[in-house]
Amino acid sequence: MAANNETGVIQDIEAIGSICKKHSVLFHTDATQAVGKIPFDVVKSNVDLCSFTAHKFYGPKGVGCLYRKKTSPKIEMVPQIDGGGHEFGLRSGTLNVPGIVGLSSALQLAVGNLNQEISETARLRDTLYNGLSQQVGDVVVNGPHPLLDSCHRLSANLNISFLGAPSSVLMMGIKDIAFSAAAACGTTGAAYSHVLKAMNVGNERGETAIRLSVGSYTTDEEVEYTIERIVQEVQSIRKQVYN
Ligand SMILES: *Cc1c(COP(=O)(O)O)cnc(C)c1O
Repeated sequence: MAANNETGVIQDIEAIGSICKKHSVLFHTDATQAVGKIPFDVVKSNVDLCSFTAHKFYGPKGVGCLYRKKTSPKIEMVPQIDGGGHEFGLRSGTLNVPGIVGLSSALQLAVGNLNQEISETARLRDTLYNGLSQQVGDVVVNGPHPLLDSCHRLSANLNISFLGAPSSVLMMGIKDIAFSAAAACGTTGAAYSHVLKAMNVGNERGETAIRLSVGSYTTDEEVEYTIERIVQEVQSIRKQVYN
């Protein structure tokens, strides 16, 4: 992953790519969280293949893009869908033209507005972080610190643990704000996020972690409301747990 969907951690894809290149290892990255979120250049990043999905940059759902570097000989791929041999045998089936055009238009807009998107989402995310960390104690950020190490973290992402307040309880108490305890697309029912587990954060931090994401359409009022509700709920959970 060029950037992680749960923690917002940005990987040094360029460095990984250059090691792969040096040793003739093919390199694919899932760039879904990077495209439209940080500057990402397939050539500079030394990737051979990269994939991303449209709906993460406000494009239509159900369409994604796979980049394959032009090399000679060609990088061979096995089709996941075969049949009529469309798209040079790579993906059979009638092309989803509205999806493709929608992805392309959304991508142009996302790349064109990139700097503005980054600064606006960073401003909202930092307000969120400041509000939460100033009003409730025992808060730990998972991944790079949003204020001290912002260049290694996606500007829209905040993954934060409220020690003593399990995320499952927090989620049950707050019905009108969408946030997650792990990846939105994971339904494994594990105790806590496999990403946090791999980062060795420990059970306490893992079980109390939530992920909050802002978008450029998020308003200041929504951020203020979110801070207020989470602070309220965390304080009430901690009281119940400790009393
Ligand atoms: C959302 C996401 C996916 C899945 O894309 P879908 O089009 O929703 O299936 C894959 N990888 C990352 C990093 C994502 O954030």
